[in-house]
Amino acid sequence: MTVTELGLPGLRLAPAGDEARPDDARLIDRFGRVATDLRVSLTDHCNLRCTYCMPAEGLDWLPSEQLLTDTEIVRLVRIGVAHLGIEEVRFTGGEPLLRKGLESILSQVSALSPRPEISLTTNGIGLARRAGALVAAGVDRLNVSLDTLRPQRFKTVTRRDRLTDVLHGMAAARAEGLDPVKVNTVLLRGVNDDEAVGLLRYCLAGGYQLRFIEQMPLDAQHSWQREAMVTAEEILARLRGSFTLTPDPTERGAAPAERWLVDGGPGTVGVIASVTRPFCGDCDRTRLTGDGQLRSCLFARGETDLRILLRGGASDEMIADTWRAAMWRKAAGHGIDDPGFLQPDRPMSAIGG
Ligand code: SAM
Ligand code: SF4
Repeated sequence: MTVTELGLPGLRLAPAGDEARPDDARLIDRFGRVATDLRVSLTDHCNLRCTYCMPAEGLDWLPSEQLLTDTEIVRLVRIGVAHLGIEEVRFTGGEPLLRKGLESILSQVSALSPRPEISLTTNGIGLARRAGALVAAGVDRLNVSLDTLRPQRFKTVTRRDRLTDVLHGMAAARAEGLDPVKVNTVLLRGVNDDEAVGLLRYCLAGGYQLRFIEQMPLDAQHSWQREAMVTAEEILARLRGSFTLTPDPTERGAAPAERWLVDGGPGTVGVIASVTRPFCGDCDRTRLTGDGQLRSCLFARGETDLRILLRGGASDEMIADTWRAAMWRKAAGHGIDDPGFLQPDRPMSAIGG
């Protein structure tokens, strides 16, 4: 077998043609990775307008007839867990709390066998009211996005005056017993990059697990610039000015965050260095957009239309085979550093972050 040097940690096997795919029911790819983590976007709508994600006026939302129905979503998730070895399902968007019927989708997915782990990524607006119902419907884990603790700044970053709602939502999730509640933060140079320490103190005190995410070229406006991005190194340097960070000895596995114990633990902080330290070699993800397009990667340039199969009467096995074939062709990495890198046509909010 020819082994290609890919320059990405963790990639083990050489590429081979489609005909070389072994007879394996799981979502394997040519590089030896196995996708077990399904990300489902429930809507591309959002009630915030984070500057690094969406323009102030919003986007051309997907036409409603193209959106998957609740039944179609549950069917695809069932095919994933029953036929393809999916172990975890994360619902996201857009803002998943805006999806009518969210709790019903969650309950149906939590009744599947084998039952997948169920998680949700949300901006936290409305969470204070809904946390109990979400837990009752089966949510095991929750990520809330929070980029600043200053109301005026929150308004600048998200273009909405809703900081208090988010903080109440986070507290409600903890009060419902969700543990950990993870907090996702994107730092923007000259905007909120002086808040790394303050956000970590807040999260440690509240029992939240904070993770900083490097800003990625996935904004609808295509305004991302590598030079402007706050890197993992910079974030860690800022934190080390106030805390002692030691590598968390817990097995990282396919988790994207590198984790550190803060001042000896038990509190931790994570950094997701998608750009400067890509973890593509350990990626275990497969993604469905709100309109039923399968993506093997956030940065994939192509999609596979499962909606047309669903609506055309395809059997579960036909859909599973199409899914397997698409994942087999998953690229080695996101290629952000390649000279020919092209940002995907869909922004993060439409793919599902
Ligand atoms: N609306 C929900 C939220 O904000 O949590 C879920 C969808 S949002 C696209 C998921 C995550 O992606 C959020 O934590 C958000 O901060 C992050 N995100 C959005 N655009 C990003 C970008 N260009 N680079 C890095 N992270 C981004
Ligand atoms: Fe909405 Fe999440 Fe994008 Fe912010 S990051 S605009 S909350 S989808």
